[in-house]
Amino acid sequence: MAKCRKCGVEVSEKDLYEDHGLQVCEDCKMRNAVSPPESCATRKNMIK
Ligand SMILES: [Zn+2]
Repeated sequence: MAKCRKCGVEVSEKDLYEDHGLQVCEDCKMRNAVSPPESCATRKNMIK
């Protein structure tokens, strides 16, 4: 398990993302991302 550097939640490494050099969870990453709204299901399927 790895830990999000922003909110501190524990996530598995495959759910960890890099954001400006920090390892963050998907939620924090999505919160920071300035991108057009997309369905979560679509994103998750793409990552896998
Ligand atoms: Zn987080």
